[in-house]
Parts: sequence; structure tokens; C-alpha cells
Amino acid sequence: MKKLILAGGGHGHINILKLLAKEPVADLEITLITNFGRQYYSGMLPGFIEGIYTEDKISFDVEELCREAGVTYVNDKIKEVDGERQLVITEEAKYPYDFLSMNLGLASREDFRINPENSTYVKPISSLVNFTYNLENSQDDEGKKMIIAGAGVSGIELALAYKNRFPHLNITILGKGEKFLPNFNSNFREKIKSLIKDRSIKLSLDSELLDVKESHVKTNKGELEYDYLILANGYKGVDILYKAFEVTEENYILVDDYLTANEKSLAMGDMISLKSHRNLVKAGVFAIRQAPVLYNNLLAMLEGRRNFQAYKPQSKYLQIVNVGNKKALMGRGSFCFYGRLPWMIKDYIDRKYMGKG
Ligand SMILES: Cc1cc2nc3c(=O)[nH]c(=O)nc-3n(C[C@H](O)[C@H](O)[C@H](O)COP(=O)(O)OP(=O)(O)OC[C@H]3O[C@@H](n4cnc5c(N)ncnc54)[C@H](O)[C@@H]3O)c2cc1C
Repeated sequence: MKKLILAGGGHGHINILKLLAKEPVADLEITLITNFGRQYYSGMLPGFIEGIYTEDKISFDVEELCREAGVTYVNDKIKEVDGERQLVITEEAKYPYDFLSMNLGLASREDFRINPENSTYVKPISSLVNFTYNLENSQDDEGKKMIIAGAGVSGIELALAYKNRFPHLNITILGKGEKFLPNFNSNFREKIKSLIKDRSIKLSLDSELLDVKESHVKTNKGELEYDYLILANGYKGVDILYKAFEVTEENYILVDDYLTANEKSLAMGDMISLKSHRNLVKAGVFAIRQAPVLYNNLLAMLEGRRNFQAYKPQSKYLQIVNVGNKKALMGRGSFCFYGRLPWMIKDYIDRKYMGKG
């Protein structure tokens, strides 16, 4: 019997598991290997931080989905993928495959040593979830200083969410001088800036983080003390050795428009660099659109068909940023709309995606 390995439990593989539960593929042994049993939906993370959604509502139980799909679930960390010997090597074992699908996400660039008691990188998301529980349990926000390094959309959403949940925190967002939110229109950028200011969050857009110490950070503008630190300021490909695959300098796998990495392998999501769109931002909106293409092309690969579907990244898409208090900012093209309605639309889309009511 042919062996298919699903490496990682990302959004594309969640979609495959759901479809396999409805329509199994005959004569195929499928194994999913992931290093974490839950798959978080980051779009709902700010709502979780604010206390609107539970952890269960914002995540899939990967083992349960595997069981329903008749897929063998392995909880282990992948260290190496060898495209020539057709082997996935984990910390515990070696898994030979005939076909491989990879959906492994990306990792925080862990440039600094941090104290996990009061600091976290945003990836993996499970660390951010634990960090939030710890903050909640300590009930210790009065006058405490939180630094969020990274003024991208995730850093901003996190700042607004933590400020709403823990109003006594003094939050500073550090950005290192790039254009502020380059993928959003100017109305959107100005509105976000004014919301940040209204919530008394400090936005310091030209402060590059240079070093992290136990109680303070060093930036090009001087030192800043913190009680809590979140690092949302740099990502790279996951720490896996890929043999016989084309990879970028940052260890993202290069794929063509059909998401093929080589004759027997497909890959999607944050872990890829599309040869035709190398600068595509790493965002869930793209991963979610790639998921059905991955499924379609995986079936074609298994059946030896060549009619693969091409993935074309959408040039314009609806951007909805949760700004807290059940309000959101929605933008598309040059248009921008703020208030409760965008939040309701986002809440509806997110809940529908999760399928948990
Ligand atoms: C704080 C935050 C907020 C965000 N908000 C948004 C948003 O509002 N909208 C948006 O579009 N995007 C958002 N993003 C980006 C979005 O989360 C990602 O683009 C999306 O999750 C990518 O999905 P993926 O399927 O490629 O990978 P992931 O969802 O990252 O899944 C990767 C999977 O691989 C597994 N894995 C990783 N390494 C290994 C290994 N070595 N061995 C085994 N398994 C492994 C992981 O456990 C996981 O199951 C946000 C990101 C962050 C960090």
C-alpha cells in the first residue's frame, strides 16, 4: 500500500483531514506528523486574549480530526525531510513515504535569549497562549510595563487585545523604522494610529530592538524597562533540514504555482516561497486559499493525473483587523470602515471557518 505523509498540522492539512473524513481515499496509508496537538486559528487569537473566545473555540484538535479521517496521528518534531530517499526524520523515528505534503508554517527568528516566565516569541502560538494564561492567573497588570517588539499587524492586534483585557498595563510597541503597515491603505493606517493613541498605547516606530536583558531591552534609542515582553518582530522558515529540495536563504521551500516542491511532494502556507511571487506576505488569508488547491493537487498526484490546479494569490483581499471591544477595522483597496459591523463580519467568518458555532 502506498504511503502518504502529511508533515505538519497547518490549515491545509486540517482541510484535508475534514475532507478525508467525508470521502476516504482507498488503498492509501496516511500519517500526519505534527509537533503540537492543537492547530490555532491566529485570526481569533486577539479575541481569545480579550476573553471573548475560549482556547477550544480558536483551535482544532488535530488528533481527533485524524481519528475521524482514519489517519495515523504522530506527535513528534520533524528534524529532516529527505526528498531523495523519500524519508521524513523526526526526533523519535524515520518515516518513509511515496507521497509527501508539507504544511509546517514558519518560526520566530529567535535572535535573543528570553525568560519564558515573563516573555514570549509569538511563534509557536501555543507559547503566546500560555503567556496569556500566566498573565491572567497572576492578575498583575497594575502599572506593569509590556513591550511588544514588532509593529506589524500582529504586534498591533496583540497590543490592542492585551490593553483591553488588562487595562492597567502600560504598553509600548516598537517598530524598527520600516514603512508602517505597508499592505494597508492610508486611511486604514491613520485610523489604526489614532486607535492606538486613544488606548494610551505608545507606538515607537523608529526603535530597533538590539538586545534583550532580564528587565530591559536595548534599542537604537536607548534602554526601556519591561515586566512583560512579546517578540513579534521577525520570522524564518522552520528549523528543518530539507535535502533535495530548493530552499531560500531563510529556509522557505520554493514551490511552483501548483504548490509542487518536487515530483512527489507538495507544500503550502507560510513555509513556502512561491517562485512566481517571492515577496508574498506570510498571512493566513493566503494559506486558507491555498488549502483547496493543495487537496486537489494531492489527489491528482496520487492518481498520477497531470491536471494540477494553479494557485494565484489574490491581489486584493478583505483585511479585517480586530481592534478590541468587539470592534474592528475593515479595509479593501482604498476603502476603510471602522466599528462594530466589521467585527461582526469578522466574527461570523472566523466562526464559520472553525465550524464550532
Ligand atoms: C499573532 C499572530 C496573528 C496573526 N493574525 C493573522 C490574521 O489576522 N490574519 C491572517 O491572515 N494571518 C494572520 N497571521 C498569520 C497566520 O497565522 C499564518 O499565516 C497562518 O497560520 C499560516 O498557516 P500555515 O497553515 O501555513 O501554518 P501554521 O498555522 O503555522 O501551522 C504549522 C503547523 O506545522 C506544525 N509544525 C511546525 N514545525 C514542525 C516540526 N518541526 N515538526 C512537526 N510539526 C511542525 C505546527 O505545530 C503546526 O501544526 C497571524 C500570525 C500571528 C503570529
